Amino acid sequence: MIPMCKPYLGEAERRAVLEVLDSGMLAQGPKVRELESRFAGLVGARNAVAVSSGTAALHLALLAHGVGPGDEVITTPFTFIATVNAILFVGATPVFVDIEPDTFNIDAIEVARAITPRTKAILPVHLFGHPADMDALQAVADERNIALIQDAAQAVGASYRGRPVGSEGTACFSLYATKNLMSGEGGMVTTEDDLVAEHLRLLRNHGMPRRYHHDMLGFNLRMSDLHAAIGLAQLERFEVSQMRRQLVAKRYSNELSGVVVPSVRPDIKHAWHQYTVRVPSGGFGSAARDAMMEDLQANDIGCAVFYPIPAHKQRYIVERGLGGMALPVTDTAAAEVLSIPVHPQLRPGDVDRVIQEVNGACLAKAS
Ligand SMILES: *Cc1c(COP(=O)(O)O)cnc(C)c1O
Repeated sequence: MIPMCKPYLGEAERRAVLEVLDSGMLAQGPKVRELESRFAGLVGARNAVAVSSGTAALHLALLAHGVGPGDEVITTPFTFIATVNAILFVGATPVFVDIEPDTFNIDAIEVARAITPRTKAILPVHLFGHPADMDALQAVADERNIALIQDAAQAVGASYRGRPVGSEGTACFSLYATKNLMSGEGGMVTTEDDLVAEHLRLLRNHGMPRRYHHDMLGFNLRMSDLHAAIGLAQLERFEVSQMRRQLVAKRYSNELSGVVVPSVRPDIKHAWHQYTVRVPSGGFGSAARDAMMEDLQANDIGCAVFYPIPAHKQRYIVERGLGGMALPVTDTAAAEVLSIPVHPQLRPGDVDRVIQEVNGACLAKAS
């Protein structure tokens, strides 16, 4: 089986964790601080604040930007559900707009059309590692003094017009075990705004600037030093891992036939968290994509659909009266996408096999 994802855990991770165990201090401490400063360096951020997950990063970033009950947050339905849940956690209302067919990211023109007097924030997702159209979104946000908060969970290592994701505005990263840079579980918020950073540091730790002085209602959403130690070990291999993802993606884009390979806009560095093709549906729902998925799995090639049910069609969203609208570009994408393995532990022979099986499945379908 060629798996979709294979976290690398080696001697460095083992040693890093043992060092923390031997120190006797497992909770948020010096390793978390070191990871924050290394992460800030990696993405060119002014501030980086570590938290317990990418979901916590989104939740606290929304709070730190003052998003709350009565506010609307414009976002994409084509994402992992945590994006939407974070908006609901703070009591705000997610407003779903359609995506761009080529990048799968939120469409800035649709965002502009969805602005109301209640719009407090725009929450784009840099899906699969391709940055959303930041300049267009920033222009919409600036016009109305609306916050632009990025879900960068899949986009560490990506850049937009030469600016690394995380180096501008406020961005929320996940360090979950399957993400490009991982700590097992974990999250990180980067921000240019020092006040937002200060607010985040309070929110993650009971609103407590000094021991048992509580300035605000806070949470326990800290990262542990055990997780930070794993993240630090992984950081050492990050550049090499990203290069390997680039190489695999390049081979797929050159050699796959019969499927629509992902497009990369000019002046974008894709992080290749996922390599996601389209299997054209010809108007027959997801049948062609599902058939290809079964075919690949039968041949021991891992593959997955991100995401088969967009947020605006999830039951609890529809029941709350927040979904159910027509978003045709998203709906077609959900029926056509298929992600194939692009992780750094693929060997050249694995890549050969994936290409052979995908192209073979397409040939069989055509004949
Ligand atoms: C992984 C992910 C999250 C959530 O991160 P966790 O660390 O799992 O909480 C949020 N948004 C997107 C787009 C993700 O891929």
